[in-house]
Amino acid sequence: MAISSIKRPPVVCILGHVDHGKTTLLDYIRKSSITASESGGITQHIGAYQAKFKEELITFIDTPGHAAFSKLRSRGVAATDIAVLVIDGVEGVKAQTVESLAHIKQANIPFIVAINKMDLPGFSPDMVKAQLSEKGVLVEGYGGDVVSIPISAKTGKGVGELLELIILLSQMQDLKADPQAPPEGLVIEAKLDPRRGPIATILVENGTFKLGGLMIAGKTQGKIKAIFNENGKKLNSAGPSQPVQILGFNQTPLIGSPVTAILPGKKAKNIEAGFEAKAVVAKNEGEESKKLKIILKADVSGSLEAIKDSLSEEIELVSCGIGEINESDILLTVSTHALLLAYRVSIPNQVAKLAEFEGITIKSYDIIYKLLEDLEKKALKLIEPEIDEEVLGEARIIAEFKIKGNHIAGAKIVKGIISRNNLVHIKRENKLIADTKIKFLQRNRLNIESGKTGDEIGMVFYPDVDFSIEDVIISYKNIT
Ligand code: GDP
Repeated sequence: MAISSIKRPPVVCILGHVDHGKTTLLDYIRKSSITASESGGITQHIGAYQAKFKEELITFIDTPGHAAFSKLRSRGVAATDIAVLVIDGVEGVKAQTVESLAHIKQANIPFIVAINKMDLPGFSPDMVKAQLSEKGVLVEGYGGDVVSIPISAKTGKGVGELLELIILLSQMQDLKADPQAPPEGLVIEAKLDPRRGPIATILVENGTFKLGGLMIAGKTQGKIKAIFNENGKKLNSAGPSQPVQILGFNQTPLIGSPVTAILPGKKAKNIEAGFEAKAVVAKNEGEESKKLKIILKADVSGSLEAIKDSLSEEIELVSCGIGEINESDILLTVSTHALLLAYRVSIPNQVAKLAEFEGITIKSYDIIYKLLEDLEKKALKLIEPEIDEEVLGEARIIAEFKIKGNHIAGAKIVKGIISRNNLVHIKRENKLIADTKIKFLQRNRLNIESGKTGDEIGMVFYPDVDFSIEDVIISYKNIT
């Protein structure tokens, strides 16, 4: 990291079951924060805000709920540094508490359990802690080191201590950024305002976004015309961990897209670079297990238990639950590269659309043995990958480039055809190192749908792969 890196505020996300108090907590913190009251401006919900506590800034993502959180995560960007899991101390652990835990585990970030509603009769932190240990989350005093704290988001009791814990955790993480670095951020909200045009809320991750600079987010770009903070105050620039609304995009950017910018007066030579859109990929986190990961939704607990009991050792259940497939299931599927299975449950229209957008196939079943049979076949495929595939083409990687965040493989097709729509295996010395898809395919800097023997092509994988020169790309389709 550059020498000019300085401390930056932590970015915090609040998760938990519906009605457990996320919004109330976010509102309480916002109201009691000095920055908000000092500004005298009109508070606006722009998707995130900064609170000041004992001279320390904390950035809160205030689109509560794990759907927003995982949307950011699922695009492979570690948007948040710390999570707060809110659990109602009267109701205890519920379905979405468990889902939130799965997201936190996947994100691999530290978290604090806030046991809420301590002002109510029947409040029982011990019940919550015992329920958490049943789910494998061991809090302090229950054999583990996960920190928990009783709070009341309504009266504010314990909230100061919670903020203190967040600051402590962030100090332990030693969070830094370089305000002089090339500006990078993430789109956390975006809308089209009938009068002002596209408006995006950007969470700055590194560098400084300055008025008059150029910015690019996926296929959208523009000149930074105005920058506002969450109190509607006009700014000239925004630095690390700051959430700001930016005007000037030519189209509404996609939520979760990374944004880069060029300082005013600088030439935009890096921006064109052939690949317009940045690869927004869900990176594999650390060591990937060789197990087949699944996410399972079922109609009733009887069938869910029956399926769970029959899963073989090669199958890892990332998350499971009862009820229809929801947005969060899709996003968790994207970020974990799991298989999403629906047993006798429906898929609402908007969820099916999101699945299509994210390139996720939901496999629906109404017979348990059929589901198990398919899973066994898929698990076996990890050992014998080519069982039911038709190979369409082969290419050899001859170059590697990094252009504006895109990890590009330059390759020569040695056999058959390589199409953008087909799946690919990447092999090294005849051993499979990754299965992935092609996000962009280019020849002579032009996007193409497919290339044939002899062509030299450039491609970006989705998810990205840590490939090397000499690796072999096998393009194939499944025969079922
Ligand atoms: P969310 O769905 O998690 O965002 O939950 P809300 O913040 O909307 O809270 C749900 C309900 O619980 C609302 O009626 C709140 O007023 C109430 N609530 C939240 N926190 C507390 C608390 O600490 N004490 C009490 N008594 N009620 C609370």
